Parts: sequence; C-alpha cells; structure tokens
Amino acid sequence: MAKMVNYNRQGYKTPMPVLDPAERAHTFAEVSLGYNAERAVNEARRCIQCNSRPCVAGCPVGVPVREFIGHIARRDFAAAYAAVRDANALPAVCGRVCPQESQCEGVCMRGRKGEAVGIGRLERFIADWAEEHPEEAARALAERRAARAAALAHPDGVAAADEEITPLGGKAVPVIPPGTDLSAFRVAVVGSGPASLTCAGELAKYGASVTVFEALHAVGGVLTYGIPEFRLPKALVAREVAAIEKLGVTFEVNTVVGKIFDIEELRSERGFDAVFVATGAGLPSYLGIEGEGLNGVCVANELLTRVNLMRAYEFPEYETPVFAGQRCVVVGGGNVAMDAARTAKRLGADVTVVYRRSREEMPARLEEIRHAEEEGVRFATLNNPVRLIGDDAGWLTGVEVVSMELGEPDESGRRRPHEVEGSNHVIGCDMFVISIGNRTNPLIAQTTPGLETTSRNLIVVDEETGATSVPGVFAGGDAVSGAATVILAMGAGKRAAAGIAAYLNPEGPAIGALAAQTAGEERAEAEETLAAEAAVEDEPADVAPDDAAAADEQAALAAALVAAGIAPDVAARAAAAALIEAAKA
Ligand SMILES: Cc1cc2nc3c(=O)[nH]c(=O)nc-3n(C[C@H](O)[C@H](O)[C@H](O)COP(=O)(O)OP(=O)(O)OC[C@H]3O[C@@H](n4cnc5c(N)ncnc54)[C@H](O)[C@@H]3O)c2cc1C
Ligand code: SF4
Repeated sequence: MAKMVNYNRQGYKTPMPVLDPAERAHTFAEVSLGYNAERAVNEARRCIQCNSRPCVAGCPVGVPVREFIGHIARRDFAAAYAAVRDANALPAVCGRVCPQESQCEGVCMRGRKGEAVGIGRLERFIADWAEEHPEEAARALAERRAARAAALAHPDGVAAADEEITPLGGKAVPVIPPGTDLSAFRVAVVGSGPASLTCAGELAKYGASVTVFEALHAVGGVLTYGIPEFRLPKALVAREVAAIEKLGVTFEVNTVVGKIFDIEELRSERGFDAVFVATGAGLPSYLGIEGEGLNGVCVANELLTRVNLMRAYEFPEYETPVFAGQRCVVVGGGNVAMDAARTAKRLGADVTVVYRRSREEMPARLEEIRHAEEEGVRFATLNNPVRLIGDDAGWLTGVEVVSMELGEPDESGRRRPHEVEGSNHVIGCDMFVISIGNRTNPLIAQTTPGLETTSRNLIVVDEETGATSVPGVFAGGDAVSGAATVILAMGAGKRAAAGIAAYLNPEGPAIGALAAQTAGEERAEAEETLAAEAAVEDEPADVAPDDAAAADEQAALAAALVAAGIAPDVAARAAAAALIEAAKA
C-alpha cells in the first residue's frame, strides 16, 4: 500500500453534524447526519497508517481498517467500500451502531494523544457512498473478490496473499475458502438477526440453498425491532437484507421454530443438511417488585418493538398506537434503557431514567447518555425502585425508590450500591419502562433433545466452528454469548458459516481458518519481522516518537496474539483490554 506521509495532525475527530437537540427530541429522524466526502477525507487523513494496525485486530470480523481508511484518504471510495464490504456484510449498520470505542477505536494509535480516528464514522460514510454509487461499488467489490480468490489459491496460500487483502487480525477470521461448492446442500437458519444474516450470506455466496426462519413478521432481529429509527433507519436495514436476499437466501417470517416445527423436523422432514441457530436474547428480565402488573408498566422490548416494528409513532397512519404516558420513568443504565428513554421522549413524555449506581458506572455508551441528556431526558442516579404504586382502577401513579450509596467494588469491578436507610421517596409517573437486561428464550433448548446449554440457557458451542452438541446443528450470536453486540454476533455468524461449510463438505478445501493456521506460523514470523522493521523504516515520517514507540508495542502484542493462535474476537478483546489498561496507566 502507498504510504501516507502528510497525515492530518488534528487531535480530535472531524465533527459529524447532528440534528439540533430541540428538533430531534420530537422526531424519529436519524440523529447523526454522517460525513460528506470532504469531512471523510479530512478524518481519514488523521490515520497514521501505522504498521501494527491494532484497529484490525480490534474488529471481530477483521475489517481491514487501515487499508480502507487509506483509500478514503486518497479519495478512492470504490476501493474503500470493497475493502470494508468484503469483510463486513452490514457496513452501514456497523458504522452506526458498533461500540467502536471498545473495539477498533479503543486500540487506535491516534487515541494515545487526543481522539482515535473516527473509524465508525468512516465506515458509515463509505457504506452510504456505495448506496449512491451502486455500480462503481459492485464493480470494485467483484474485482477485490477475484483478487482475493487468486491470492488465496496461490500455492503459498495466505502467506502469499497481499498484506492488505489478508490483514493482521483479519486473516484469523475463518472464511469459506474459494473453490468451495455448497450447491448440493440446504441450510436452515433460525432467527434473522445479524448473526443469521451474516451466516446465511456467507453460505449463499458458495451456492448453498439457505432458508431463514423468523418468528416475527419482519426480518433483521434487534436491528429491526430493537434499535430505534433515530439511531438506525429501518430502510437501511431493509437495504442490507435485500442485498443478502439477492444472493439467493429466502426468508420465511411468522415462523416460530420449536412451535411450528422443531430442529429435528427441519432436518428429517424438511430435508435441511445443517441448521444454524441464532435466536438472540430477547426474553426480558423483570424487577420482581410489587406493582409490575399495573397498567402503564412495560418492558423496554415491548415499547421498542411497538414503536420500531409497528411504527406506533405514526398512528393513525399505522394502526398500532402506543401508550407513552406523560411522565415516564425508565429503570436501567444500559444502551437499551437509553433507547427506551429517548423513544418515550419522542412520543411526548417527560422522561426520568432511574439507575441504582452513579452516571460513571452506567454501562450505556457515553455518546448515548449525552444525546439523551441533550434531548431533555433527566437522570435520577443512585436510586433503586422498590415498589410500583397504582390507583383503584389499576393504573400506575408512581414508583417508590430508595436512595443508594456506593461501597466497595464488586466482582464486576464497579462499586457496589447500598440502600440508604429511611431514604424512600416517590417519583410520580404514569408510565414505567423496565430495562434491566435480556435473557435467552429456552424454547429451542427445550425442543431440541441433546442440545447442551448452560444454566442460563445459553447454547454451548465449539468456539472455532460454532458446532453444538447435536451433529449438524450450529449456533451463534446472543443465543450463545448472552446479550452482546451486533459485530460480535456477526463474527459468530461468519465463524459458523465456515464451520458449516467444513461439516457439509469435509472433502472440500480446508476452511479459511485452517488455511490461515497452516500458514499462520510463517505469517506470525513475517508479522514479527514487519513489526520490528515498522517503527524504524516504515512509520510515516511525521509520526511523533511516542506514537512510533507505541506502534512497536502494539505490533509486539498483536504478533504475540497471532502467534498464540488466539481466535480473532478473543484476541481483539484481549488486545483492547490490555491497550485500554495501558492507556489508562
Ligand atoms: C434495544 C437494543 C439496542 C441495542 N443497541 C445496540 C447497539 O447500538 N450496538 C450494538 O452493537 N448492539 C446493540 N444491541 C445488541 C445487538 O442488537 C445484539 O447483540 C444483536 O442483535 C444480536 O444478534 P443475534 O443475531 O444474535 O440476535 P437478534 O438480533 O436478537 O435476532 C434474533 C432473531 O431470532 C428470532 N427468533 C427468536 N426465537 C426464534 C424462534 N424460535 N424461531 C424463529 N425465530 C426466532 C427473533 O425474533 C429475532 O429476530 C442492542 C440490543 C437492543 C435490544
Ligand atoms: S490504529 Fe493506526 S492504522 Fe488503525 S486507524 Fe488508528 S492510526 Fe490508522
């Protein structure tokens, strides 16, 4: 790759325009407006193109971050899109909702001084650019895939592949090898969230006949029914789903597997050769306090599903009204709570978030908390609900909370909250939204004999292949990990696709992960050499000495992770954790 020497020394991310808070508190239009080409190029030029490129190892699906940003910096948007799309089936989604600060951006070298490069913003820009330039984008992607196939078919395998086509971190993500023919096989995919869409798309590319079964009437999983329109427009999810449909994947909606037919019947009666289960973690948790049955009490999933999936906010054009109340209390401190609070605000309620720890301990992304505050959502932190109060007609009138104070850290590392005796007080409200976490639905486990699960109903799988204890049945996403993130679900879908391909076609070419491992030792050595040379020869001329030294550290860490053969998202997590700790120190 061509070097970039005149990188942009701006310490902070190029600002991304957002809708005015006063305006957006009343509309479901998207809050963040995205970069235009000038802003994108300016931001891309903040990337120092460091040799160790920890950003790639920080991405669970191995997006070649350094490469695509380099293309944007040189205004080659088609090549940038091809690089991203080749690794990530849902770039417009990930560019908007991935928690980049704890993944690629969390380990970005530029974050050591000032802010990390806006990798998510650039990914979003390039996905939106492709929407406006479909032919150019499709041509570039086809060319890239042909180049990759040629490189991987070379006798030296992955080791001979172009450095950027098979980047560090990315090379360890298992992929179905070129030349694989799955056209004789039928695969059933249960659920249609990001894990399923990724798995289905990967298998279809190699000729498999894939049918996705979805319980709801719309596909996309949480992308469609959970994440609100103002963060992730549904038209955009539909566009990404259509691209997967174009590969030949078919969708059967309104089909609850485990009720209409079970997994065994899918195989024996409907003739599927393998099944991928990614049913998510959609079962809400309750507080278990008095009054949860009152009118005006609901869980975040219900509110968000009614609003997102049934477009309740467009009543009466859409026939499903939603009760948002005038004074709404949302309990919880995670991203789902922020989504529920901001949704209720847009429906016209006066909203208070009640959370039992302090703002610093809230698990929600800082950006989401800030956006909620800007929109007028109030926060009553260090308060915990103990009872819901209703009137004689069964309608909610308030929530009794107790004040909390923080003690010593618990096993999660966060300070444990304790009740302050005698501090009970009532917050008046006519709507109360519970958002304290989701669990997995036990239906599939209960209807699939021999399927090993944990005590929390999580499906147990082989980490490399996604294989479950039932031969021919694979699983991934939140149903395996518990409630996590879009990109981790996608990584699991990609790994399982490679596992399924190897299961269906054991005589075929070795799966990409194995090919990568075969070549892995040579590659690790090459990486180490590269890393050692990096700071001396290749680092851009105007990189500050601290950056170069840090690049060296990063390279050593990344090389060690690769040499140890650690799976990509495990590696990414470890690298991210270590680097964030180092940065804090
Ligand atoms: C409100 C909300 C906001 C979020 N925001 C973010 C965010 O900003 N960034 C981020 O990275 N992550 C976010 N997440 C988490 C992320 O969306 C999930 O981790 C991810 O969607 C998991 O993907 P999945 O494919 O495993 O399952 P899901 O997306 O949950 O999809 C599972 C699908 O399976 C279907 N299903 C379930 N049981 C059956 C059955 N028996 N038969 C057929 N179909 C079935 C469900 O209807 C669903 O459509 C959020 C989650 C929620 C709830
Ligand atoms: S880690 Fe290095 S290559 Fe990756 S985005 Fe940051 S500066 Fe660029």
